Parts: sequence; C-alpha cells; structure tokens
Amino acid sequence: MSRCFWLLVTVAAAFFITASSARIAAQQGARQQPAPGLAEGLQFLPVRGNIYVLQGAGANITVSIGRDGVLMVDSGLASMGDQVLAAIRRLQAQLDLREKPVGFGAETRSTVADRHIESPAKPIRYIINTHVHPDHVGANELLRRSGATFTGGNVAGNIADASEGAAILAHEAVLQRMTSGAEGATPAPADAQPTDTYYTDTMKLSHFFNGEGVQLIHQPSAHTDGDTLVWFRGSDVIAAGDLYSTTTYPIVDTKLGGSINGVVNGLNRILRLSIAEFRTEGGTLVVPGHGRLSDSADVAYYRDMVTIIRDRVQTMVAKGMTLEQVKAAKPTLDYDPRYGATSGPWTTDQFVEAAYVSLGGGKAAAPRASQGRSK
Ligand SMILES: [Zn+2]
Repeated sequence: MSRCFWLLVTVAAAFFITASSARIAAQQGARQQPAPGLAEGLQFLPVRGNIYVLQGAGANITVSIGRDGVLMVDSGLASMGDQVLAAIRRLQAQLDLREKPVGFGAETRSTVADRHIESPAKPIRYIINTHVHPDHVGANELLRRSGATFTGGNVAGNIADASEGAAILAHEAVLQRMTSGAEGATPAPADAQPTDTYYTDTMKLSHFFNGEGVQLIHQPSAHTDGDTLVWFRGSDVIAAGDLYSTTTYPIVDTKLGGSINGVVNGLNRILRLSIAEFRTEGGTLVVPGHGRLSDSADVAYYRDMVTIIRDRVQTMVAKGMTLEQVKAAKPTLDYDPRYGATSGPWTTDQFVEAAYVSLGGGKAAAPRASQGRSK
C-alpha cells in the first residue's frame, strides 16, 4: 500500500519535474539563449522563423535576417550603433554557416576552388522606426549607411550616394519631428531621417521580405503621435514599439502628441491582431519596446491594467480634482509593486501626470464647476 503510494508520488513528481523543466528549458532555449560571441551587453533572442530580438542597445530591436538581407525595427541608441552592426553581422555569419551555400555551376567557376569563398553578408535593407525617441532612432544614420558598406566592402569609405543605403520607413509624424527642430532642437541629419513615410492607417512593404509580408500600422496619438506597430505576417510577430512595455507603466509622451486613450486603443489593436496558440498561451508573439518577449495574454493583462488606471484617473478628472489630489489618491497603488518607480526615466508620478493631462485634467475650472452642479 505505502510502497504503491510512494511509487505514485515518485512517478507524479518525476512527471511534474520532467514536464516543468522541459517547459522551462524549452522557453529558455527558445527565448533566453544568447548567440555566442556577441558584443558585451547585447543579446539576441530567437523569436520565430527569421525574426530575432536584439536587446541591450537602448530599445529592443526586432530584426528579420535572411536571404533578402536585414530588416530592422528601430536602430537603438546612437552610441550603440557600431556594436549593433557587429552583432547583426555576427548573427548573419552564424546563420550562413548553418545553411551551406550551393556550389557554383561547373561551367563558370570551379566548385572546388570556390568552396571556401565566403559570400559577403547581405546588407541592411530596411529600418522601420516605431517612433522618434532617441533610443529607437539613434543609430539610424550609421546603420543606414552600413546598407551600402556591406555590399561595397569598403567599411571606412564615404558613401557618395546615400540612396544606396538602407531605406528608413516611418509614419509621417516621425519625419516632421525629425526635421522641424522644434523647441530649439537641431534637426536630425539627413541620413538619419525617414526616406519613406506614410500618413494612412497602414502601409505594407510592396513585396515579401525574407519570405513574409511586413505591415506597418499607425496608432494615432498613443505613446507619441507617430507610433507604428510592425506586423511580420508570416512569423506572426508584432513589434510594438513603446506602445507596450513589460517593465514600466506606459510612457505617454504628451509633449509629442501621446495620450493614454491612444495607448489603450493601441494595446487593443495588438490584441485584435493576435491569436493565442492554446488557451491564452503562445501564438502571436509581441516584442515590447522595452522588456521581455510576450504573448497576447501578457498584452491583455497590461491592457487591463492601463484601462483600469485610465478609468480611475478619468473619474477623478470628472470630479474636478487637481493633479496633486489625484496623485495623493494613488490611482496606481495596487499596480505599483509591479510597474511603479520613484526614480529613473519614467516614474509613477510622471505616468499619473501624463494620464491626467491627456484626459483633460487641470483645464478650465468653470466646466468642472458646472459638472459638479449637474450631479
Ligand atoms: Zn519611446
């Protein structure tokens, strides 16, 4: 009896350990195994198919690497450009080793003689900017120019014709922000600016890239006024830019046209595009601007959090509360252990203030008084 019991326990425990460790190993293998030999601080995570995420260069950089070359979603910090380029080249070389090139035709060249000739790495063809912040567009210029140096083989040489470099795609608002030099800022250099913009709801690459369609989707007035979601339709991966983060409350840049309602709409849009693989797990994968790779359940929890806090602040704004009163009421309190911050680039107070301002808080005392009377 007792032996039977312990046998059952042992079998059950073994099954549990095997199942959970296999699952963890699979997750780690798939998501956390860095490609060996990368520049310090940078980490490539394989996502699915040709899609990888490069972390550690500012914002997450989603990269499609394959036979057509390289397409990047965002370029990272300017100071990390060289390292990002080196990391991409290294990953390309590793992938090339995996797929042995077919020998040349015997009538034109000797297969034997050419067997050890390495083909040049394919260039960076496209950089898609999700928005204008420097941790997303900082290395645009360097990486765009590298698009020509890859094929030209002269890394140090000047590129006489910049049109040979990578195309930079973004929403029109990104170009306007980069060229306007508003508030005394210097306009971005010409080679850092988008070469192709769109002003409609969505834009598609005109042809498959690395075996799949790539779609750009504009989300108005969300993190900024020029946000783009990038949807890799074959791999079913969405690069969300800073509309979605797993590490902080959403950054709502009200000075650049962002709003908390736009962020909620953007998260809902991601969820409308996403399909879970089993129950709420897996399926469409979402790359946040900062933080870890997610599935639609992660985005849904985050969307719920932002929606709940938005509703609380909206109610306080409707009551005519001042910003100080709203902060004192702590509308984020139950989420602060997970997303809150009192220091760093995006504090809880900044988030509450951005939510308050974008929901019309603090505007004109008279309408508030009339609202109060009507209740
Ligand atoms: Zn940003």
